[in-house]
Amino acid sequence: MRILVAEDDPVSRKILIKTVEAWGHQILAAENGLEAWQLFQQENPKFVIADWLMPELDGVELCKKIRASETSGYIYFILLTGKGQQKDIVEGLQAGADDYLTKPFDIDELRVRIRVGERILNLEKELNSKNQALERLNEQLETLAQTDALMNIGNRRAFYETIQRVHQRSCRYPNRYGIIMIDIDNFKNYNDSYGHAAGDEALRAIAATLKSSIRCSDEIFRWGGEEIVLVIMEQSLEQTLLAAEKLRGAVAALEIPHKGCDRGYMTVSCGAAAFKENCTDKEWETVLERADQALYRAKESGRDRVCAGETGVPSNQVPPKQHPAAEK
Ligand code: GH3
Ligand code: MG
Ligand code: MG
Ligand code: MG
Repeated sequence: MRILVAEDDPVSRKILIKTVEAWGHQILAAENGLEAWQLFQQENPKFVIADWLMPELDGVELCKKIRASETSGYIYFILLTGKGQQKDIVEGLQAGADDYLTKPFDIDELRVRIRVGERILNLEKELNSKNQALERLNEQLETLAQTDALMNIGNRRAFYETIQRVHQRSCRYPNRYGIIMIDIDNFKNYNDSYGHAAGDEALRAIAATLKSSIRCSDEIFRWGGEEIVLVIMEQSLEQTLLAAEKLRGAVAALEIPHKGCDRGYMTVSCGAAAFKENCTDKEWETVLERADQALYRAKESGRDRVCAGETGVPSNQVPPKQHPAAEK
């Protein structure tokens, strides 16, 4: 252990250094309080043994300075004093010293007192690493509490937190955002034909594809069942529709065989709406509502398409082209 020894008397200092070094410790030696304070700041030792009476800065002032400074972890401080009176000891301990030794000190007593300090510092280190592990676990727990286990994207709770934050910010600043609601087409049919396990696998694959198709500033959540909701940051309705079209295309390109679907492979329908787009939304719920209505229209008008929230006019005015995979 590195120990800062501050003692102005050369003989005492020498004895102290030799004794403590013989026990395997590394010594930083200072001839007065000020030098000790400078050494302390440069070297950050965790253990200090300081004489009370020293020129420049006495041991009690040094202790106060150390306690008032920002240190990483605890500093164990032993005060050496020639004064044995009770009130002096109280003053030293009140200044923040952990322990004291009356000079001339007994070597065995010094040794055990250093050991006590070491034990306390080790306990503190152990506690710190346990606290850090606990913090890491808490972070993991927080992530788990916000993640959908099957799709490995945010859950409904995470969506509420995000949308509230994004909406508040967009109300305050001239920001926009878009919401895209996605629903897998004829998914019940898929489960019935291929089994629930295959259904789960398809949900995972689709979520992963959607997640990798958005910008890192955008957010994706499982709304529930086979429905997914996305928050697209800083985009107009037109841009949100383009993003939705890209997502629809990405799922189609997976070409997950689905005989119960018109195209012969898995498709999704999307509804998109944007905040501050010809509307004066006060609440994010109304934006979501428009995206949901748009999704409903996308379903009604034939599935595998994107519809816009405000006007209800499908973004792809022409019916979607047959996907190449289905033409084969
Ligand atoms: P539409 O095109 O109109 O959306 O038809 P759909 O069959 O997809 O819609 P519907 O709401 O009738 O069915 C949704 C299905 O999604 C029913 C349910 O069993 C299935 N589903 C919901 N959550 C899960 C899940 O976690 N795993 C699996 N395998 N299926 C799920
Ligand atoms: Mg002295
Ligand atoms: Mg659904
Ligand atoms: Mg569906």
